[in-house]
Amino acid sequence: MNRRHFLFGTLSAAALFGSGGTALARHTVWNPCRANLPPDIANHDIVRSAWQGLDPTKVWDCHAHLAGIGDGASGIEMNPRMLSPLHPTEYLQRLFYLNAGCAHEAPGRVDQSYVERLHNLSDGMAPGFKLLLFAFERTHNSSGQPRPELTTFHVPNAYARDVARAHPAYFEWACSIHPYRPDCVEALEAATRDGARAVKWLPPAMGIDPASPACDRFYAALARLDLPLISHAGEEKAVHGAGQAAWGNPLRLRRALDHGVRVIVAHCASLGEDHDEDQGTHGPKVSSFSLFARLMREARYEGRLFGDISAITLRNRQLGVIRTLLERDDWQPRLLFGTDYPLPGILPLVSPRRLAAEKLLDTTAVPVLETLREHNPLLFDFVLKRQLRSGKHHFSAKVFETRPFFDRKPA
Ligand SMILES: [Zn+2]
Repeated sequence: MNRRHFLFGTLSAAALFGSGGTALARHTVWNPCRANLPPDIANHDIVRSAWQGLDPTKVWDCHAHLAGIGDGASGIEMNPRMLSPLHPTEYLQRLFYLNAGCAHEAPGRVDQSYVERLHNLSDGMAPGFKLLLFAFERTHNSSGQPRPELTTFHVPNAYARDVARAHPAYFEWACSIHPYRPDCVEALEAATRDGARAVKWLPPAMGIDPASPACDRFYAALARLDLPLISHAGEEKAVHGAGQAAWGNPLRLRRALDHGVRVIVAHCASLGEDHDEDQGTHGPKVSSFSLFARLMREARYEGRLFGDISAITLRNRQLGVIRTLLERDDWQPRLLFGTDYPLPGILPLVSPRRLAAEKLLDTTAVPVLETLREHNPLLFDFVLKRQLRSGKHHFSAKVFETRPFFDRKPA
């Protein structure tokens, strides 16, 4: 079976639960999607103190997925394989991610429900908080032609733009443009005019080799426009296209950095292994995170290379990664808060209990966080990351105030 890439690239729900997904116990696994917080939780010290020392108008979640199934006028396209119970892996993944966004009980208006749910969740954050919503580009071939049959999921730039425009108090948007497209520079200029704050790539899934000279035109335009590139790096578990896994290697982003592009490595490449290509294409396999760390040590990339802290608390991550991110005081100005929504809404993916057992979290925070997650996965992720600590170290306040990074100089 030619398995397709799973949208979020960070996990496979089927891999976590085995293929017998239909037997899942609904109330322990599915997010109950409650709306309002119980007063004792809303007023809990841990929740209130999470906002202390922050300017909420600067707190932007810089990694949030816009999703749906294309039942509105969104233009979202989903590979039919993901809509059929005959393809259990894809089917289960789709159910999980729509459930996490709590759009599953609204037949005929899933796209709209997904956005409305984000309103509700944002209302539970401090006023001024915003989400950076991602468009999601189609898979393209090496000559820059779209390959619909290889595309799992497509969220048009126009849809992300229009959602952000319709709800400017809640949303900003990031475009997604394939660099091999003949019109990639024009598309990038148009998106920038339309208010895009960044470009999002998932190279292995989209068919992008970030180290290819074919990207150079696009990199030059990114540098000229000073638009940051948010690129997934690290393992891409669900992709099985020959040769493409290597395109998630963090070292391949050097080409963008050397063009002067500001690059955000999604999840700080916190999952999986890549070849150490500094020792040749087939150099020894090392953790992707260690390659990200190597780039962070290279002085010429200071002020250019950054990492977002979305998805770092998922169960499939090494706890050592979280410790490093907390302990590296010199990295704090280069880390950016993101949730990877809707992933924090998928109940079993993050375990506050395990984090507490590893002393990364105070045990008293565990029940509060568990209740928070049932009601508001955005707030859950935010409070959790404000609470994380390793000894005396925690994420600095500036990690959460990501807005200045994305603010555009007036033209
Ligand atoms: Zn993501």
